[in-house]
Amino acid sequence: MTKRCKVAVLGATGLVGQRFLQLLESHPWFETSTVTASEGSAGKRYRDAVNWLLETPLPEGAGERVVRRTRPEEVDADFVFSALDSSVAGPIEEEFARSGVPVVSNASAHRMDEDVPLLLADVNPEHVALLPAQQQRREFSTGFLVTNPNCSTVGLVTALKPLDDAFGVEAVSVVTMQAASGAGYPGVSSMELLGNVIPFIAKEEEKLQSEPRKILGRVAKATIEPARIVLTAQVNRVPVVDGHLESVSVKLRRKASVAELEQALSEYVSGPQRAGLPSAPERPVIVRAERDRPQPRLDRMAAGGMAVVVGLIRPCQILDFRFTLLVHNTIRGAAGAALLNAEWLVKKGLLGPRDEISPAQAGNEATLVS
Ligand code: NAP
Repeated sequence: MTKRCKVAVLGATGLVGQRFLQLLESHPWFETSTVTASEGSAGKRYRDAVNWLLETPLPEGAGERVVRRTRPEEVDADFVFSALDSSVAGPIEEEFARSGVPVVSNASAHRMDEDVPLLLADVNPEHVALLPAQQQRREFSTGFLVTNPNCSTVGLVTALKPLDDAFGVEAVSVVTMQAASGAGYPGVSSMELLGNVIPFIAKEEEKLQSEPRKILGRVAKATIEPARIVLTAQVNRVPVVDGHLESVSVKLRRKASVAELEQALSEYVSGPQRAGLPSAPERPVIVRAERDRPQPRLDRMAAGGMAVVVGLIRPCQILDFRFTLLVHNTIRGAAGAALLNAEWLVKKGLLGPRDEISPAQAGNEATLVS
C-alpha cells in the first residue's frame, strides 16, 4: 500500500465501536473516515451521541465528527468495520458488501454462513480462501463479508488451536465467567449484576458449541468441513467490567504431558506473527505459572489486550487436562481481532485503498493463501 486505508466504523457509539476508534487512533495502515450508528444518533456530533466509557480520552478529532446513518451512500471508505447490534447487522452488512464495500464484522449474523470466513487471523488464516466463491455466489463485485467469532469463542479457540495442531482435540467442556461489557451498552443493569452471578446469556452456549468447529475446520472446496470435536458449554455473566474467564477441560487424541501442553501453547505462532502485522501479539497465548492466574484485573491487558492468558494447566479426572484462560472481550475478543483480520486481508492483497486493489487480484491472492 502506498497510502493508509480509509475505514468506516459501523455502530461506532457502542462498546466495541469505541474500542475500534481507540485502536484506530494510532493505526499505521488504517484511518477512520466515517462513524455511523442508529437513526437516533445520526446527525449528532460523536461526542454528544456516545457515552465514552474507555480508560483513554476520546481520540483527537473524533468528538467533532458527525455520526452518519448506517447506509452505504453515507460512507466514504475503502472498507468498513461492523460493530453493529447483532439484531440489525445481517441485512445492513449484506447491503454494504453488495454495494462494493468489504465488511469486516464482529456481529454474529453471518458467522455461520457457509461461504463466510469466521476468521481469527492467527488461528485459521487459510479460511480467507472462501472469499472468491462467496463473491461469485452472492454476486458481489468488490465487496465481501468476513466475520470474527464470539468473544468467548475467541479465547477458547486461540487456546485449542495449538493443542489441536500438536495432539488433536477430541472433546471440550467449557464454563465461562463473562464480563459486563460483553453485553454491550447499557447491557445488564447494575441492579441485576452487582453482588450477583447470572447463569444465562442468550444464545451464548450455542455459539461456543458451534463456532469452534467451523474455525478449527478445514477448507474443502468452497466451504469449511467442521472439525470433529464435541463441545459442551455453560455460561455465566459476572460483575467484572472487562475480561472473560473460562474454565476448560479437554480430551486429546494423543497422549501428552502438562509440560508438552505448556510448550505447545506458549510456542504457538502463525501467519500474522511471521508477517509482523501491526496488531499481532508476539505470542497469541501467554502461559502463566502462578497457582492463581489468570485473573481479569491483572491479565486482561496482556500484549495490549491481544494475548489470551492461560494458567492452571493440570490433569483432569474426567477428560485429559483442564486449564483456565482469560480473553479481553472487547479487544482480542472483538475490535482487536477484527483489526488483525483486516491487516491479514491487506497482507493477502484482499483489502487496500480502492484504487490499489481489484477483485481479480483478490481472487488470485485468496487461493494462494496457506
Ligand atoms: P452495543 O454497545 O449495544 O452497540 C451497538 C451499536 O449498534 C451502537 O453503535 C448502536 O447505535 C448501533 N445500532 C443499534 N441499532 C442500529 C440500527 N438499527 N442501525 C444502525 N446502528 C445501530 O454493542 P457492542 O457490545 O458494542 O457489540 C457490537 C457488536 O459486536 C454486536 O453484534 C455484538 O454481538 C458483537 N460483539 C460484542 C462483544 C463485546 O464484548 N461487547 C464481543 C464480540 C462481539 P446507537 O448508539 O445509536 O444505538
